Amino acid sequence: MSIVVTGANGRLGRLTIAELLRTVPAREITAVVRTPGKAADLAGRGVTVVPGDYNDPASFDGLLRAGDKVLLISGNEFHRDIVAQHQVVIDAAARADVALLAYTSLLGTISGPVSVNHRRTEAALRARGLPHTLLRNGLYHEMATDAVAPALRTGAIVRAAGQGRVASASRADYAAAAAAVLTGTGHEGASYELGGDTAWSFAELAEEISRQSGTSVVYRPVTADHYEELLTATGLPQPIAHAVAALDLNVADGECATRSGDLSRLTGRPTTPLAHAIATALHP
Ligand code: NAP
Repeated sequence: MSIVVTGANGRLGRLTIAELLRTVPAREITAVVRTPGKAADLAGRGVTVVPGDYNDPASFDGLLRAGDKVLLISGNEFHRDIVAQHQVVIDAAARADVALLAYTSLLGTISGPVSVNHRRTEAALRARGLPHTLLRNGLYHEMATDAVAPALRTGAIVRAAGQGRVASASRADYAAAAAAVLTGTGHEGASYELGGDTAWSFAELAEEISRQSGTSVVYRPVTADHYEELLTATGLPQPIAHAVAALDLNVADGECATRSGDLSRLTGRPTTPLAHAIATALHP
């Protein structure tokens, strides 16, 4: 019996394994990765590292075992059929009779293009009938703090989010919630709406960057079409630019500002303040 994390070489996966290692012996943790060589440090700490690729169902044959608790970290190959990729892990988990499959989904309030693969994966989980938990993650602070360096260069944050608010949290917060579910009990069938304790607006983000950096940054709201054009002009493929701009409309419509409190309840501590994430971005 093991706690298994797929996509374990990614940023959320790494943070989840780090969180697990605080309370679980390394020999009880399995990291599923595409490139085992990149996880040599985890193997060195005693974590079992095994190859597994969502595009290769055979790579999951015999990988999961009865009683395992598994975290399926959603894929990021947006040019592929991501739901089919997730189905590979769901089918392997059902065949193995795992104790729990937790899935990193998206806030239930968020609609539009970014939500489609997540809702279909949730439906696939329900259809398979295996014990599962939905970790419906909100936005990462890091998606906001990626804007810090360009904002300091240009003096502006240009987005299509209107006056909408975002209850984001750090990746580490979401990782701690995932670890709490994997190590705890009674999470079967639960669906958690995860987000930061405090929601912020892009105008407030600009103010906080200005305050901490001493450089004036303003928020300049634009239409979603204009924002999509700006993104494609930077070389982002059009479908991705469209999805990113649509996510700003989700923010504008108030869909990314959960007040559920589920995240801090699961982790037992307040979520990381955005100001802290900005400070980290300014002084890495
Ligand atoms: P990340 O650092 O890009 O990690 C994604 C992980 O998925 C990587 O480890 C990658 O493996 C793995 N992966 C991708 N395709 C795979 C495949 N075919 N087979 C096996 N593994 C595969 O992303 P993250 O920051 O950890 O976030 C985790 C997920 O959350 C993302 O993949 C995305 O679905 C979602 N997300 C959420 C937000 C949010 O704000 N809530 C924002 C962005 C993304 P390699 O290491 O081998 O590349």
